[in-house]
Amino acid sequence: MTNLTRRALLAGTAAGLAFHNLPALAAPLARFRHGEFEVMVVSDGHLVLPTSFLAPDANPAERDALLKAAGQTGASYDSPTNVTLLRRGGDLILIDMGSGDRFMPTAGKLWDNLKAAGIDKTKITKVIFTHGHPDHLWGTIDEFDEPMLPDAVFHVGAAEWDFWHGSNASYGLPAERAGFVTGARRNYAAIKDRVAMMKDGDEVVPGLQIVSTPGHTQGHVSIALKGSEDLIITGDAISHPAISFAHPEWRTAADHMPELGAATRAKLLDRLAADKARLIGFHLPYPGTGMVERQDGAYRFVAA
Ligand SMILES: [Zn+2]
Repeated sequence: MTNLTRRALLAGTAAGLAFHNLPALAAPLARFRHGEFEVMVVSDGHLVLPTSFLAPDANPAERDALLKAAGQTGASYDSPTNVTLLRRGGDLILIDMGSGDRFMPTAGKLWDNLKAAGIDKTKITKVIFTHGHPDHLWGTIDEFDEPMLPDAVFHVGAAEWDFWHGSNASYGLPAERAGFVTGARRNYAAIKDRVAMMKDGDEVVPGLQIVSTPGHTQGHVSIALKGSEDLIITGDAISHPAISFAHPEWRTAADHMPELGAATRAKLLDRLAADKARLIGFHLPYPGTGMVERQDGAYRFVAA
């Protein structure tokens, strides 16, 4: 048997097992095809966030009713963290790297979950970062500050790189999140010789295009995959399954530039609904895949 046939057979078997054994796996892996891409969504665990983060200046009664309907009543809530992995030809492309082991004990499970799903992380050829927040970037290095993926190429938005390295990096960040800047610089420093800068409209591989979606951070980007309709990996431009859709105009405390974040969210939701495109949201309920429908002058998330 040739290597190629063996590999195809093994890949086929692994995919088959993943589908049939989903409930039994320690780390379920959502897997589907989109155009030329094999798409997988791997959990990095979850964050525990204060509910007050969500729309702090919205009408409290209206906000609480919406949260209650979503089953969210406490002072804190669990926010899933969904990392997307793409295979196209010889490339294995990771979108964001999770939290690593220095952010929250409930997160940083990406590498264990990849391994449990039978995926060898050393085969990852490219990483594309949506932005430089801890839950997306801090998994870049290990406990010795060495890159987890020493052979990969790391695609970083030029605006995002410049922002975190600039003298205004703490702009819009409350004091308790000042550590975000130190952490971002530490992780970026470990990969600085393997960084490829990217900007709006760049095609990283055929059919994969960078879409500038600023506001959550200054240089936040989303990733659009061509297919019969687009699939957009929205990072944190859309971050809550109820609030982001019902009230995209509400400002969130998680956004560095809340006004711009709201405008970007509205534009993105309009595009997703108009194009009947699919999306993967990093913080939507695992695996974060679904579509956007218009409802009552706003939108709703329809999970796939
Ligand atoms: Zn995030």
